[in-house]
Amino acid sequence: MNKRRPTRQVTVGDDRVGIVRIGGGLHGSEPAPVSVQTMTAGYTYDIDACVVEINRLAAAGADMVRVAVPERADTEALPEILNQTRVPIVADVHFHYKRALEAIEAGVHKIRLNPGNISDRDQVNAVIDACKERNLPIRVGVNEGSIIERKDKQKRLKELGEFFSDQKHGRLIAIMVAKLEEYLEIFEARNFHDVVISAKSIDPAVVIDAYTAISERFDYPLHLGVTHAGPRETGAVRSVIGIGTLLANGIGDTIRISYANDSVFEVQDGLEMLYCLGLRERKGAELIACPTCGRIQVDLYKLVQDVRHKLAEEIALPIKIAVMGCVVNGPGEAEGADVAIFAGDRRGIIYVQGEKVANVPEEDILERLLHECKIFEGRVQRGEARLGEKVVDIIPPDPIGELGSGVDIIARNRTGGSVQLTVDGR
Ligand code: SF4
Repeated sequence: MNKRRPTRQVTVGDDRVGIVRIGGGLHGSEPAPVSVQTMTAGYTYDIDACVVEINRLAAAGADMVRVAVPERADTEALPEILNQTRVPIVADVHFHYKRALEAIEAGVHKIRLNPGNISDRDQVNAVIDACKERNLPIRVGVNEGSIIERKDKQKRLKELGEFFSDQKHGRLIAIMVAKLEEYLEIFEARNFHDVVISAKSIDPAVVIDAYTAISERFDYPLHLGVTHAGPRETGAVRSVIGIGTLLANGIGDTIRISYANDSVFEVQDGLEMLYCLGLRERKGAELIACPTCGRIQVDLYKLVQDVRHKLAEEIALPIKIAVMGCVVNGPGEAEGADVAIFAGDRRGIIYVQGEKVANVPEEDILERLLHECKIFEGRVQRGEARLGEKVVDIIPPDPIGELGSGVDIIARNRTGGSVQLTVDGR
């Protein structure tokens, strides 16, 4: 992990919805934790549905929520939406600078502008002045798809030619940086520095190169994203490559994952990425689980999913919980877990910080594991135990006899014996 790049800092929100700082490290500011944002998928003018969606996203852990305001009806809905929500709201503005002015008037906490479709200097100045008056930051978002000239045909053909002949993205990134320089000059001429920059692409390699180049050129905080990443199943990989690589390199101050799916997943996966990189303090339990193999003797996939959902609902502290399919490799891999379960022969042994507390049949594992997690959480809350204080310490083959873990079956297989596993493993 590289040290985080120092940037200017911007502030989003107010006392009512809470303050979120983005970036920092320059001009006396302390670097803020990397924040997670997302965007609503429904129509903003549909006030009730929009409020429900924003509140779900905030409950999932979103630090900021962006809403699209393509029509006057959308900005007219904003005062009531703001009234019924408690998270900073960002207005996403394209084409119509007046939507930005209306959103600012309505009380939003941040504006996103796209230089590709709002470039008229007077219009941009009007938005800058309105934001300056209310201390609101502006995100300048250049997307790969919107940086190519739209109005001037000659210029467009030239840029498109360069764009598509560019195998190594060098020219594309040069265009992105040049457009940003041109656009930000308007802001700097107005002495406006509450700016966040984004430069998204669907190609994670372009994202990495573009943000790296931008981080070398500008000292504004960066909003990272791999845009239109697709369904969660593949979009998660794209996002981890693009956003995760940059964060590991110390680049990035706020992130948004973009899935063709419920935006709650964007928030959950964004937070998990930050937890894994040690850029945010984990909230809620951390689950580790084995991938299963030929030694498995319980339905581990189902158990892991059930445990995951229950932990998310019922455990608030960052307890590390390991769900392991057997005692052969499980103990070593579960090292450091506060609570661990090792399965075998349709049973499970549960350990809490190295102490064996239960040996239960498969159908009782979920309930008992959760029960032990809650007891442990209570002890931590009362100061009787500390998270991560002890490691799970089981030396196989000790529990084999107790579990009938199948090691005898594996051994027989090794010697050429033929074994048919049944429900009870015998
Ligand atoms: S913990 Fe056991 S069942 Fe799970 S992958 Fe490792 S060896 Fe296989």
